[in-house]
Amino acid sequence: MHGAVGLGIWEALYDAARATLCEAPLAAASLQLGVWQDVGLKACGHCAACRLMAAGTHPDLMLLVPDALLPELGVNTQESNEVPVASEKRAPSKEIGIDAIRGLVEWAHGTSHRGGSKAAVIYPLDAMALPAANAMLKTLEEPPPGLYFYMGTHRLDRVLPTIRSRCRLMTMPRPGRAEAMQLLQSREYSNAEEIADWCRNAAHDIEPQRGMEWARKMLAAVVSGQGSLTGGEAGQVPAMPAAIAALQKISVDLMRVRLGLDPVYMPSEKAALGRLATMAEARPLQDFWQRLARLSSTANFPLHAALASESLVLEFKQLFMRRAH
Ligand SMILES: [Zn+2]
Repeated sequence: MHGAVGLGIWEALYDAARATLCEAPLAAASLQLGVWQDVGLKACGHCAACRLMAAGTHPDLMLLVPDALLPELGVNTQESNEVPVASEKRAPSKEIGIDAIRGLVEWAHGTSHRGGSKAAVIYPLDAMALPAANAMLKTLEEPPPGLYFYMGTHRLDRVLPTIRSRCRLMTMPRPGRAEAMQLLQSREYSNAEEIADWCRNAAHDIEPQRGMEWARKMLAAVVSGQGSLTGGEAGQVPAMPAAIAALQKISVDLMRVRLGLDPVYMPSEKAALGRLATMAEARPLQDFWQRLARLSSTANFPLHAALASESLVLEFKQLFMRRAH
C-alpha cells in the first residue's frame, strides 16, 4: 500500500493484520477503511488473539518497523516491554536491517503458534536497506501457506523493483473532509479546519499541523519585514523534511495567489500571501518550488539538517527582496 504521509497507511496495515489473526472477526460492514476488500473483516478486539496483539505478544504477528518510528506509531512490542539495557545510548535505527529480515524469514517458515494464519507488517518498506531487501525476496515470492504480508510506503519510487514486482499494489485514498475533521476533533485540536486545509485532509499524521504554525509566523515576519532578510523572527526553523514540506505548501499557495486563485493550504492567510505574491517574481518562485520538489526526495538524508533548512529559509526570503530596495 502506498500514498502520502498522513493518509493512515500504517493504521490500515495494522488493522488488516489484526483482522487476519483475530479469532472472532466482525463483518466488514463496520470497517471504516474499505480498502482491504479481500480481508473483508475487522478484528473484534476481545478474543484471545486480539488481547495478545494488544499486549504485543501475539506469536503469529510480526511487526517490522524501524526502532526510531516505534514511539510515533504507538506500537506495543515485546522488546519495548523489556527493561532497556542501561548503557545502551545508541540512537534508534531508522532502517529495517538485515538482522530483522533474517528473523522474519526464520519466523515465516516456522509453524503457526495458534494454528491459524500468520501476518507480517513491514513499514515503511523503503526503510529496508538493499541487503535486507534481498534477504527476503525468496520468502516474499513463495510465502509459506497462511502467511500474509502487509507492507506500506510513502515513497514507492524508493522501493526496489524486485520487491515491487512481488507485491500487489494498492493506493491509499485521501480521506474526505468529514473523516479528517472527525479525527482532528477527536484529538481536540481547536483549529481543526485550518489543520485540515494545511494537510489536505491527510490528518492521520502524528502531528498533522507540524510546520503550519511556523509557516504562519514566518509569513507574518516576511510581510512585516518588507522583504528584509533580518526582519522579524519566526521562531526555530523545523528540521529538513518538515521545513521543505512547509515551504512547498507556501510556494504553491503563493503561485496560486499570483494567478488569481485561492490558496489551498493556508486559506486563512490569503491577505499575507497576496501581499507577498506582489513582492516576488513568478520565475524565481517557480524555480524555488521546483528545487524544493527535488530536495524532498533526499530530505531524510541531509548531512546538516538544521543548517540546510536555515539556508532554504534564507533563499525563500530572498524571493521577496528583488523588488524591495
Ligand atoms: Zn479478535
